[in-house]
Amino acid sequence: MKKVLAFLLLLALLTGCAAGPSAGETGRDVPETSAPTPQDSSGQPDVQQNASLYVGAVTGMPEDFILGMDASQVPALEKSGVKYYDAQGNEKDVFRILSENGVNCIRVRVWNDPFDSEGHGYGGGNCTAETALEIGKRATQYGMPLLVDFHYSDFWADPGKQMVPKAWRDLDLEAKAAALEQYTRQSLQMLRDADVAVCMVQVGNETNGAMCGETDWPSVIRLMSAGAKAVREVYPEAKVAVHFADPQNGAYPDYAAVLEQYQLDYDVFGSSYYPFWHGTLENLTAVLGGIRSDYGKDVMVMETSYPWTGEDSDFSGNTITDSSSVSKPYPFSVQGQANSVRDVVQAAVDAGGIGVCYWEGTWISVGGSSKEENQKLWEQYGSGWASSYAAEYDPQDAGKWYGGCAVDNQAFFDASGRALESLAVFSLLRSGNGAAASILSIEELELRAAVGESPELPSVVNAVMSDNSRKSVPVVWSAGESELAQWLSAPGSYEITGEAEGLPAKLRLIVTAENLLANPSFESGETADWKAENLGGCRELCAEQKSADSRTGGWHYHFWTPDAGTAEFTLEQTVPDAQPGSYDYSIWIMGGDCGSTEIYAYAKVDGEIVSEAPMQITVWNEWHQGTITDIEIGQGQTLTVGIYVKADAAGAWGKIDDASVSRR
Ligand code: CA
Repeated sequence: MKKVLAFLLLLALLTGCAAGPSAGETGRDVPETSAPTPQDSSGQPDVQQNASLYVGAVTGMPEDFILGMDASQVPALEKSGVKYYDAQGNEKDVFRILSENGVNCIRVRVWNDPFDSEGHGYGGGNCTAETALEIGKRATQYGMPLLVDFHYSDFWADPGKQMVPKAWRDLDLEAKAAALEQYTRQSLQMLRDADVAVCMVQVGNETNGAMCGETDWPSVIRLMSAGAKAVREVYPEAKVAVHFADPQNGAYPDYAAVLEQYQLDYDVFGSSYYPFWHGTLENLTAVLGGIRSDYGKDVMVMETSYPWTGEDSDFSGNTITDSSSVSKPYPFSVQGQANSVRDVVQAAVDAGGIGVCYWEGTWISVGGSSKEENQKLWEQYGSGWASSYAAEYDPQDAGKWYGGCAVDNQAFFDASGRALESLAVFSLLRSGNGAAASILSIEELELRAAVGESPELPSVVNAVMSDNSRKSVPVVWSAGESELAQWLSAPGSYEITGEAEGLPAKLRLIVTAENLLANPSFESGETADWKAENLGGCRELCAEQKSADSRTGGWHYHFWTPDAGTAEFTLEQTVPDAQPGSYDYSIWIMGGDCGSTEIYAYAKVDGEIVSEAPMQITVWNEWHQGTITDIEIGQGQTLTVGIYVKADAAGAWGKIDDASVSRR
């Protein structure tokens, strides 16, 4: 299961672009032809038709801003029987529907040879240059140029794998560069010959330090340069893009610097930005804005997406579900999906970016009523993320986990192919849409209590507004007092339902085992229950009241040593009246300026240490937990738990909080 999730995560990271020094900086000779900028569609929907969709107007969006859609899977889906309908239920060419809703650019991934030795497709749309041609003809018909995304692999390329195409396996770097250049030229020439408009070409997909089997920057950039050269020749009006995967990995400035160092000829530095994985919008704006100002490059969000539902619709599990432990800045709803797109566009605009491309908003279920039925279609037409035939090329991942669609809950179409109202967001970004924000849903709550405590259920909850703001509203819970008392008598997790503003409310009550320590969070302001021993160097060693430095509550335990030398101390408590049995212990610490440290939580039985758990101190507000489980206590024995800290630096400081001992 873990592996499946790891794969799904990688899958969602699959496509991308990159960027490098500008034409002026690299001294290349670029024809003055103007690039075909994405065009406004003619059939934008009437704002009034979308009265219930709230869209906050994006401020400062350039006229030629790219609102792209990766639609690479469409041909394979259509061969599998998928049909697309507009929001009113009229069957139409999906590219027409996209255009009518404000999408002005279509992105396509291109693999060299996604077929096994007997001609069976690997899946993921079996996307080749010929697929790009098919999509390009249709997109061009509706005024949308292509963003061509060369993976330079026979199958998915992402930060986890950048496999060389089969045909290039035995080539040295220069021979591979020559082959890559020729392949890029031939692929693009095929599009040019068919009058397909191309506004941008990616030389590699999510190439965080590797591409096409190469894993060092000079080699990767040598290959990117070969691709860029072919793009300049065949589509001089198109921008050359590079693409990386995670704006919060801290490495983008290094990427941009090395691209400049090796003088890659590129225009656009692109990034994936998935709100559930890739940090804040503020960070996205800061990182891309920094690349733009430091290197004079265009910047762009090459991929983004967001779920409109937590449900799967094709019997093949999804990357992001209701139970995923990821950031969920918006409810998984049609409005939440629209809000996410709107906010990513605003963040890109704020960075001075040139566009945002949504990833595979057209990838939906092939529509069968069972996994077996769908599996036949995935295998026959390559309409799942991978087929069993991919095992030959990618035995460890695709070969084991092949299946259907992992992002059908992030498409802009429901399982029947009908456009969601959120698709209209693209055409409404400039003007905004909707009157005063309305209540969409009630935010779920979590309440933790130890056995024997009697917490009050909250009287108000947060309503999620259509503009994604929160509003406090009164709530009535359905659980009675006797029911509550019963739940609080034993550890467990319970769901309490309620109603607020006529909408369902939900609270998860997590009852933890009774904490047997006295004053476990130092909230009494005294330390009589605890015994501290200064083994040397600690100037301050005491309970301290400061919420900002406490993990919970207002108090914690504090140490500080301003003098050079080693600070060393222990802090411990003997559990009152411990009965024979098995116990778990944990404690938290954070701090800074500690130099080299030795820190561990410990448990003593009858005064002798029986178990230790190493801990660490890093930086302010980064709390680390030490946990010891299964401490056995016999009849008449005492249990003492504590923490040992030794820090070798003047100025070392730290905070300790939230100790817990519970019986198993
Ligand atoms: Ca699925």
